[in-house]
Amino acid sequence: MTENEKSYPPEFTDERGLALASNIIDYQLNHGSLLKHIDLAAPFPEGPTTCSPVGVTVFPTLFPREQFERAHELQPIYNELYCAVAEDEEWIFDTIQPLLPIDPLAAALWEIYTQVKQMGHAQDISAGIFRSDYMIQGPGVDFPVSHTGCNVSLKQVEFNTFSCAGGTHASKAGDMHRYLARTGAYRSDGNVSVSYEALPRNPILPSLAACLGDAHEAYGPKRSDQASEKGVLFVVQPNNFNVADERPIEYALWDLDTPVPACRAEFPSDILDYTTLTESRELLFHPPWLPKTIEVSVVYMRAGYEVHEYDAAGKEARLRLELSAAVKCPSLLGHICTFKKVQCALIASGALERFVSPVEAEMLRSTFMAMYPLDESELGMHARRLATDPVLARDYILKPSLEGGGHNVFGDDIPDFLASTPEEKWAAYILMQRIVPPSAANVLLSPRGLDSGPVVSELGVFGTCLWKRGRVLRNSVAGWSFKTKDEEVNEMSVVKGYGCFDTPLLF
Ligand code: ADP
Ligand code: MG
Repeated sequence: MTENEKSYPPEFTDERGLALASNIIDYQLNHGSLLKHIDLAAPFPEGPTTCSPVGVTVFPTLFPREQFERAHELQPIYNELYCAVAEDEEWIFDTIQPLLPIDPLAAALWEIYTQVKQMGHAQDISAGIFRSDYMIQGPGVDFPVSHTGCNVSLKQVEFNTFSCAGGTHASKAGDMHRYLARTGAYRSDGNVSVSYEALPRNPILPSLAACLGDAHEAYGPKRSDQASEKGVLFVVQPNNFNVADERPIEYALWDLDTPVPACRAEFPSDILDYTTLTESRELLFHPPWLPKTIEVSVVYMRAGYEVHEYDAAGKEARLRLELSAAVKCPSLLGHICTFKKVQCALIASGALERFVSPVEAEMLRSTFMAMYPLDESELGMHARRLATDPVLARDYILKPSLEGGGHNVFGDDIPDFLASTPEEKWAAYILMQRIVPPSAANVLLSPRGLDSGPVVSELGVFGTCLWKRGRVLRNSVAGWSFKTKDEEVNEMSVVKGYGCFDTPLLF
C-alpha cells in the first residue's frame, strides 16, 4: 500500500453500489450462499421452499497478514492441546465439577459420560473438527490509516470443539470476493486496491471431508452382516435453516475419489427410531427412506449443543451414539472441551504445561485475554468485584458455557444481570476481558439491507484431528472463517443476524 493509497473501501456512486450489491445477491443465489426459511405452519411439500442470501460484506475487510499467518501457525499446537485435554478425564472433571449442580448442559453430558464409562467405551479413536476464534487487540487503531507501526496482537475469543459451523459459508464468501476482485468490480483510482492475491483461498470443504474420510477409514472394515456398507452419519437438528453450511460437507464426502457414504439423521428422533446397536455395539442406521442398512463408521455431531436438546429422548439418543463403536466427532469429553469454563481453566498458571511443551505453552498464552471464574476462590472474588462494579465491568464480558451465540452478557449490562441472578448460579459463568479490535470500514449486505460504517472482524481457524487414546493420528489446519460486524454490535453470529461472512484483505 502506498502513502496516497489510503482510502478503503472505495466510495461508489449509488448506481455503482447498487449494481455491486445486486451482483453479489446473484452470486449468492447461484452458489447456495443461503439460509433456508423454515415455515412450520406450511411444512414441505405444502408450502413453497424459500430462502434468503446469508449476510456478507460488500468488500473484503482489511486484516494484517502477519496475524492471519500467526493464527494458522498456532493451530497445530491448539489441536494438540485439545486432543490431549479431551483424553484427560481427571482434569476435565476437576474443571467442570463446580458446574454440575448449576449447569444443566454440563450435568446432562457428564451423566451420559458416566453411563458410557460404566459400560465401557467401544471405540478408542476420536475425531475433532475444531475452530479457534480470534480478534485483533488494537485499541485506538483504525485500518488502514494508522496501521503502520502500531501495536496489534492476536487474541483468542473462544475455542470451539463441537459442531463448528460456518466453514462452507466462509469459503463461498471468499470465492465471491475473489470473483468480484477478478472482474474489476472493486476498481477505483486512488484507493487501496483489492488485489486478487491478497484474498486467501479457503480449503475448508476438502479438508473437512478428508478428516471425516480418514475417520471412516480408521474405523476399519464393516463388521455387521446386517449392514450392506459403512458410512458417516451427520447428526443434525430438526428444521435446520443452515443446510447450506452442512450439506456441502456430505456432498464432498460422496465426491471423494473413493466415495464415502454419508447420511443424515435428526437428533434425537431419527436416532431413536432408526438406529440400533448390535450386541457388539456396531451402530446400524436403517431409516425407511434408504433401501439398505448402513453401519455407522463416524458420528459427526451438528446437533446436541443446546440444553433443550437433552430431555429424556435427547439423553437416550446421545447415550446410544456414545455407546456405539463408531468414531465420534467429537467424543463426549471432546465436546465438554468447548465449555468456556475449560478455556478459562487453561489460562491458570501452569495449566497448559500439563498438555504441551513450555515453548508451545508460551506461544498459546500470547493469545490469551484475562479470564476469571466467578466462583468463591480468591480469583473468583476478585472477578466478582470487577463484574459488579458499573465502571470496571465495562471492560468485560460474562459468558456461560453455552454455544451458538446470544448467551453472553456484555459490559454495562453485567452488574444488573448478576443482581437479578441467584448468587449460587454465578459460578456457571466466566468473566473475560474485552478485546478492543481495530476499526475498519465496510458495507454490510444482510437481510436488513445495506449498512455502511465502522466494522470489526473475527478470524476463525479450523483444525482437524484424529487421535487414539493419547496418540495423535492426524493434526491439520483445515481453513478459516472470517466474520465482520458493525463495531457497535456485541454479538457476531451471522445466522442469528448479527455479523456477515467476509474475506480478509491481507496487507
Ligand atoms: P459463542 O459460543 O456464543 O460464539 P463467543 O465467546 O464466541 O461465544 O462470543 C460471542 C461473540 O461475542 C463473539 O463472536 C464476539 O463478537 C463477542 N466476544 C466474545 N468474547 C469477546 C471478547 N473477549 N472481546 C470482545 N468481543 C467478544
Ligand atoms: Mg463464538
